[in-house]
Amino acid sequence: MLVAVLIGTGGSEGVPVPGCVCPACNEARIYHFAKRRTASVFVTSYGTSIMVDMSLDASEYVEEMYLDAVLITHWHHDHIAGLYKFRWIEKPVDLYAPSGDVDPEIRHFPKSLRIRYVKPFEKIDLGDMEVTPLPLNHTIETFGYLIEVGRKENIAILYDTKLLPRETEELLKKKGVRVALIDATTAPGSHDPKHNNVDEAVEIGKRIGAEEIVLTHISHRNLPFSRLVKYVRERWDNVYVSYDGMMVYVV
Ligand SMILES: [Zn+2]
Ligand SMILES: [Zn+2]
Ligand SMILES: [Zn+2]
Repeated sequence: MLVAVLIGTGGSEGVPVPGCVCPACNEARIYHFAKRRTASVFVTSYGTSIMVDMSLDASEYVEEMYLDAVLITHWHHDHIAGLYKFRWIEKPVDLYAPSGDVDPEIRHFPKSLRIRYVKPFEKIDLGDMEVTPLPLNHTIETFGYLIEVGRKENIAILYDTKLLPRETEELLKKKGVRVALIDATTAPGSHDPKHNNVDEAVEIGKRIGAEEIVLTHISHRNLPFSRLVKYVRERWDNVYVSYDGMMVYVV
């Protein structure tokens, strides 16, 4: 069994953004379930446990968890800020990350982190998990990760990206993805050169044939939570809007 716990599901600003009175931020102040921490996901097979990305907001959680490794998708601050604190962990932990644009503070003073640079499609064995780094389309070198346990259980984590490079799409199509967590930063119909809007995120999921598509990395530039859920429910059956604390099971 594979379980993903979506600790943070927001874009780099989180929701609400301090001082912002847009509909998404206002809704999140009234209904706490619509608040979003910055992106981090805990994945466990109950044999192996990892974090993918370590946002500032994830720090409070990892004190409670045992982690075999941390994987970083890219070195943008919203995905790595929690490493500043986490690197003081008592026992050494492997940190898998792209070699492009490494945060200088972490590179020079990794403390207990053992940094290991990943290469496109070069598999990483982590206990009973096999992890494949997948190149994505973003502003700096960025990898999604396909996490597999055995032949049938897998989760693809695909942020931050604007659609997918062809080789990544082809590999995922071949694998038969059970659950895909996909960057859906902005509202339907909007354009951002480095992130998907909601429709583009769903298009990715459909093209790779994912059984379940979970929209995540959702910013306040997207629809407010309740309107986004309505938009998705009216159009698709196997697409879900993530929320902080959401648990996704692959059995
Ligand atoms: Zn991001
Ligand atoms: Zn806002
Ligand atoms: Zn980014």
